[in-house]
Amino acid sequence: MVDLKGQYQKIKHEVDDAIQGVIDSTSFINGPKVQEFAKNLENYLDVKHVIPCANGTDALQVALMALGLKPGDEVIVPCFTYVATAEVIALLGLTPVLVDVDPDTFQIDIHQFKSAITADTKAVVPVHLFGQCSDMDAIMEIADEQGLFVIEDTAQAIGAKITMKDGVQRSAGCIGHFGTTSFFPSKNLGCYGDGGAILTNDSELAAKAKMICNHGQKKKYYHSVIGVNSRLDTLQAAILDVKLKHLDSYSDARRKVAARYDEAFKNDPRFITPKRVENSTHVFHQYTLKLNGVDRDAVKAYLAENGVPSMVYYPVPLNEQEAFKTVGNFPVTVDLCKQVLSLPICTELSEENQNTVIQTILKFIK
Ligand SMILES: *Cc1c(COP(=O)(O)O)cnc(C)c1O
Repeated sequence: MVDLKGQYQKIKHEVDDAIQGVIDSTSFINGPKVQEFAKNLENYLDVKHVIPCANGTDALQVALMALGLKPGDEVIVPCFTYVATAEVIALLGLTPVLVDVDPDTFQIDIHQFKSAITADTKAVVPVHLFGQCSDMDAIMEIADEQGLFVIEDTAQAIGAKITMKDGVQRSAGCIGHFGTTSFFPSKNLGCYGDGGAILTNDSELAAKAKMICNHGQKKKYYHSVIGVNSRLDTLQAAILDVKLKHLDSYSDARRKVAARYDEAFKNDPRFITPKRVENSTHVFHQYTLKLNGVDRDAVKAYLAENGVPSMVYYPVPLNEQEAFKTVGNFPVTVDLCKQVLSLPICTELSEENQNTVIQTILKFIK
């Protein structure tokens, strides 16, 4: 699905130098590279505060903790997402309230979001799924009206840009009260282990999140709140600082791959190519087809037999997961879980390899 080795080969010298630099400094925890990378990411995203942490799941957890939500508070979250988004809500004793998604964009359904709001609703976590932004104009407007916090799960959309209705272009993750992201190796900006970050333009919330990441202390050995231990280690920060310089070219490479898939499948009604929305760029963390009248699992098995990887993100709606069993109707998510198929997409996918993927699929359906 991804070619991390090929990507590394192209920037090997830069990465190796950065790693060696950290080893020479022996500043493995909270070394200067951590803050340097945070500053560079702030500039890249045009956001006031980047708080690095250990992974994207922690980023969500710390953001929720920093908002001071109380057990029983409801947090609205799309039903079609990676488990982490809802997991941290439940872990903190908050109540995840699942809502369905839009069948074309895969993003949280705005009407469902609106009708799920109760007196106990305190926050919403839109997920910029697969690399394109949720409808942030509508989400912010509803959240403002209802006094809700907005945490954007940007684990799949770092570098995506959205043009808001006032005409201003903003980075995904930098519009709500918090944004969170992951630097898991296969994410669009991936390190060589685990990593994550919390994003915010609110200096007070930033100070809280920073404190929570560091055992709830502002001053060493003085603990004001219950926190966690969540850090981005210096080696990962040094690697990320190198890769950040290439992020725009990585996004371009992904968009080129996506355009070739679009071209290959556009005239066949059995394949529904990913819809683009007008006001958001797409960074294609995943290129996800919807199969229409074709047995998705049979296609996937045939691809595997022929050595072509593909993935189903996600096979089970969150409400049907044993951990989350929730009553409710999520017909769009249920259908999507049966229809979606994500194809290989990465920064180093050659046209030749991509053609093999395309030809194998076309051969199966002939
Ligand atoms: C990857 C991912 C996460 C979690 O990130 P980790 O770094 O693996 O903890 C959260 N939300 C979404 C949508 C993701 O894709």
